[in-house]
Amino acid sequence: MNKTAIVTGGSRGLGKAMVKKLASMGYNVVVNFVSDRSREGTLELINDIEKEYNVKGLAIQGDVSDYDTCKRLIDETVKVFGSKIDVLVNNAGIDNNKSFLKITPEEYTKLVNVNLMSYLHMTHVALPYMVEHKDGNIINIASIGGMMGVAEQADYCAAKSGVIGFTRGLAVEFGPRNIRVNCIAPGMIWTDMLRQADQNAVAALKTAIPLGEIGEVNDIADCMEYLINAKYVTGQTISPNGGILMP
Ligand code: NAP
Repeated sequence: MNKTAIVTGGSRGLGKAMVKKLASMGYNVVVNFVSDRSREGTLELINDIEKEYNVKGLAIQGDVSDYDTCKRLIDETVKVFGSKIDVLVNNAGIDNNKSFLKITPEEYTKLVNVNLMSYLHMTHVALPYMVEHKDGNIINIASIGGMMGVAEQADYCAAKSGVIGFTRGLAVEFGPRNIRVNCIAPGMIWTDMLRQADQNAVAALKTAIPLGEIGEVNDIADCMEYLINAKYVTGQTISPNGGILMP
């Protein structure tokens, strides 16, 4: 029997790379996405991993900032793959890139709901199954913005710092039940999120990266693979960032 992994925001960018990596590791993968425009691509992704890696995929559309949607996602997962959820990757995220003087409460509330509250919701509904099976691996995707200040990203920094704190609290509480919880805090990685940012600012930041390059999605997928296999590592935040931040 294959193991089961869930990736929120698995349709594009980092999430998609992690879905492929999990499939290559032999996991059946639940791929969550939210927008109608990503439906076709997600179904193609599932088709590809099923053919290439002989695993099963399951696409579940839904906004993970909504608790009932997270519950439905887990219920469907359990119905299709059984109650052992081996890996949960909380990855769904958005950014606003706006001055805190210009941003509206609706905009920053939405960001915190997607980038932080969804991680709590998904974990809240998945964790009982991990506790039942005395086994589980949770990987939360934060950002260097959770460890340093970034202009016009105060809401994003707040949510990502929250993700790091959430990771640590969970790791302490659930370590004794054989559930490991870790965090990846990427630097700048080429995805739609970065492509939509101000390219002058991206170019300027690039000059500050000691390794001289913006990262690739597989740099994060490789890190996830390491964390899944690293049996003595929990509560940690690993930051593949080309050296731009050395906390
Ligand atoms: P991306 O290419 O923009 O992809 C975002 C993913 O999140 C998509 O799959 C999207 O689904 C999904 N999503 C957005 N809102 C959602 C919601 N409410 N419910 C469910 N899914 C939702 O972004 P990315 O760069 O891969 O970012 C992935 C994670 O890495 C985020 O948490 C981000 O903050 C973090 N990160 C990225 C970078 C970077 O440089 N790229 C750096 C640090 C941290 P749809 O396809 O349906 O829209």
